[in-house]
Order: sequence, then structure tokens, then C-alpha cells
Amino acid sequence: MTPPSPVRVAVIGAGPAGFFLADKLLSQSDVPIAVDMFERLPVPYGLVRFGVAPDHEKIKLVTRAFDKVSARAGFRYYGNVEVGTTVTLQELQQHYHAIAFTTGAQSDRRMGIPGEELAGSHAATELVAWYNGHPDYRDRQFDLSAERVAVIGVGNVAVDVARILCRSADELGRTDMADHAVEALRQSGIREVLLLGRRGPVQAAFTTPEVKELGELEHADALALPEEVALDPLSAAQFATIEDPSERRKIEVLNELATRSRTGKARCLTLRFLVSPLELVDDGTGRVGAIRVGKNRLVERDGALVAEPTGEVEEIPVGLVFRSVGYRGKPIPGLPFDERRGTVPNTQGRVTDPASGQALPGLYVAGWIKRGPSGVIGTNKPDAAETADAILTDARNEQLPVPSSSSGDAIDQLIRARQSDLVTWTDWQRINDAETTAGKTAGRPRVKLTRVTELVNASRASS
Ligand code: NAP
Repeated sequence: MTPPSPVRVAVIGAGPAGFFLADKLLSQSDVPIAVDMFERLPVPYGLVRFGVAPDHEKIKLVTRAFDKVSARAGFRYYGNVEVGTTVTLQELQQHYHAIAFTTGAQSDRRMGIPGEELAGSHAATELVAWYNGHPDYRDRQFDLSAERVAVIGVGNVAVDVARILCRSADELGRTDMADHAVEALRQSGIREVLLLGRRGPVQAAFTTPEVKELGELEHADALALPEEVALDPLSAAQFATIEDPSERRKIEVLNELATRSRTGKARCLTLRFLVSPLELVDDGTGRVGAIRVGKNRLVERDGALVAEPTGEVEEIPVGLVFRSVGYRGKPIPGLPFDERRGTVPNTQGRVTDPASGQALPGLYVAGWIKRGPSGVIGTNKPDAAETADAILTDARNEQLPVPSSSSGDAIDQLIRARQSDLVTWTDWQRINDAETTAGKTAGRPRVKLTRVTELVNASRASS
């Protein structure tokens, strides 16, 4: 039986899905709710801080909405607390009626080709986390001395990485990119960036504003090859069915890039289509020296257009490869996991037992760990609302498990006893002040602190 008030919900993960979920739960008055948000890192915002590109400052304004959530009655924030380490799921179940995981997709997909382990072959997600100052990636080294780089995949992450590699250090130095990355990129020897898509332009996963931005880079010429941008009959038929004007415009943008030639800018970014990575070739020293790609044609299979090899192979000398073929969720101890999809099995946010299909009472998911790594930040809003509705419905129907301790005090004491470096919301505001104050002096949005110890110290600064 669910007690009358309040229903206590633990939200695990302080990224967009976590905040949208907390907001939806706390902005209704039908069911009295208290939300405790747990975040592994000392800083909140998840992929808004560690995924959104530093030169996309406006996208980060969404954090203003998250800050409003933090001010809602019934909200508490426990930063620098790892569920599974500092406190276990079983322990949380003794204190909460509902536990919602919004931990995202913290790993990356692999290409599964020979040579993927060579030095100079990296996941794009690692580079992104490194340049955005994620503490786990603070000491990662990238040898950026190569002249030519291949980025595999044509999603928005690939576009972000290609664009960042084409920006000048002066441009990057005006953003909130982590200092260590600005300095490393200042020394970059990269002159040519190749973006490699295995299917055609109509199937490209990037969105139109993102690819348009590539054509507007100050220090890099962006090009496409006319023969690869030209639509085959199957793509032309698919294109004819697209109604979204923005999606249609994507092809115009690519056609325009295909008319361009080099103008003498310092760098060149070439978008390639219908090429699949086959192998990363060792340069003889254990480093990537080239990439072998197989040319493709498109064929229809089960209603989708898929790449089929033509048998033609091209070897392109490259010294660095970033695979950007998608993020992947990691299993959460104590919850079932769908290995194929990299998500937690669920129905409308209710975690389900894969064997029986039955909901596991009191366990929920939202965001990428629920639906997979797709969509933009805003996509998490309706996704989280669905999960919030499931929690509220289960609360109304008295289907939530009743914890042994539900005052909220005992879990607070437990966490404080276990984590002396706990970062509360007030502590985070001190970190934020330190970063933005340093940013003001430097003419930047903020200067990020990138080590857990630095963050914790800043959170204690004037307390
Ligand atoms: P994504 O959009 O799913 O793109 C993955 C790309 O990898 C696709 O081009 C896919 O091609 C390709 N790929 C997959 N397996 C491959 C293989 N074995 N060999 C070659 N290519 C392969 O993923 P993402 O770029 O990681 O982005 C994740 C989500 O975050 C997306 O929804 C994205 O829009 C969003 N995001 C948005 C922004 C923004 O709004 N500015 C920025 C970053 C990320 P196929 O299509 O052929 O499978």
C-alpha cells in the first residue's frame, strides 16, 4: 500500500532525462512527491555539460530550466554519490517508493573491424568527453599530430567532432572547452578531416542545421563529392516521400557543398557517402596508417535502404580514426538488461522482467537507458513525462512498494556518513560561481574544472 504522503522517488542521474523527470513529478499537485536526485559526478547536467559541443553554447541554456527544478519544494540533490558504490540499489529500496534510472548511454558502439585496437583509433565519444572536461577522461591522451583524420559515421556526434577538429584554437579558446583540450588542439597537425557515411545523403543521420554549419566554418573548406551526393533511384524515391522541409533542405545543402572546391582555408573537411570501414591498417609501428573502405550501393531490405558492398575497395592514408557509430547503454547492477539494444527492458518507463514481461514494482527508467541513444535533448522531455506518468499512475493505484524507512532523514544521514565529499546543490552553485567567475576574466562562458578533487575543493571554497 502506498502511504498518503509523500511518495519518495530517487532519480539516478542528473542529466536532461533526470531533470525533465523530476520536473514533471514535482510540478503536479495531485500526488505529493519528494524527489532525491543522485549523481555520480560532483557536477550536474550530464550530456549538456559533457556531450554538447563547446561551440554550441546556446543549447546549454536548457540548464536554466534544470536550475528551476532544483528550486522546487521537495527536491534534494546528492552529487558525487555513485549508486552501486556509495549506496546500493537494495539500500535505496529501503528508503524510496520508486527508483528511476536516467543514467544515459555511457559506452560506445564498436565497428567490429580489424585494426580497431591500433593506437590512433578512438571512440568519438571519448574525444567528446575529453574536450568537454569530463573528469574520467581528464588524463586521456590523443596524438593529434596526424595530417588526415577519418571520422566514421554521419550522425550529429560525428559532425560535432569533425567541426571541432576544424576550428582554430582561437575559436575554441572563446568557448567553455576544457583548457587541456584547447591547448592540445592548438598544437594539432590536422589539416584534413573525412566524414565517412556507409549509406547515402538521404539516409544520413545528421540534421540539417548541423551539416549547414560545416559549410560555414571560418578556417575549413567543407566539400562533398558530386558522384556520392547524387541520388540513386531508391534514394530519390525515398526523398520524394520526405515532407519535413528541414530534412529536404539537407540534400540542398549537400548538393551545394558538392559544387565547392578548396579556397585555401587552413583545413579541409570532406563528407563522403556510400563507404564502409573494412579495416584500419597498421603503419608498421602499431599505429593507424590508413583506412580501407569498401564502396557500397543501396538496396532495399525489409523496407529499409541498406548498404551492400560493390566489391570496390579504397585505401585512404589517415593517422587518426574516430568511430562515431553510436553510444550504448551499460548494464545497471540489479536491473535486467537488453544486450542487443543496450537498454533496460521497459514498458512506458516501467522496468520489466524480460522472462515474464511483468513490471518490476518501483523500478523505472527514462532517457537513453530507456529508449536508446536517439534524439536531441528535448526528446527527453516527452520520454521522461511518460515515465513520470507511469510513476504517478502506480502511486495512485497503490502499486508502489512501501519502503521500510520513508521519512527522508535516514537516507540523508546514510549518504552523509558514507560520502564526506558529498556535493549538494548549494555546493554545486559554488563550483558554478568559481567556473563562471574565471570565465568572465577570460572572456569565456566558464573555465571548467576537470578533476573531481578540484570540483570538490571549489564546492567547499567559501563555506
Ligand atoms: P546516430 O545519430 O545514431 O548516428 C550514428 C551513425 O553511425 C549513423 O550515420 C550510422 O549509419 C553510423 N553507423 C552505425 N554503425 C556503423 C558502422 N558499423 N559502420 C559505419 N557507420 C555506422 O548517433 P550519434 O551521432 O552518436 O548521435 C546520438 C544522438 O545524439 C542522435 O540522436 C543525435 O542527433 C544526437 N545529437 C544531437 C546533437 C545536436 O543536436 N547538435 C549533437 C550530438 C548528438 P546508419 O544510419 O547507416 O546506421
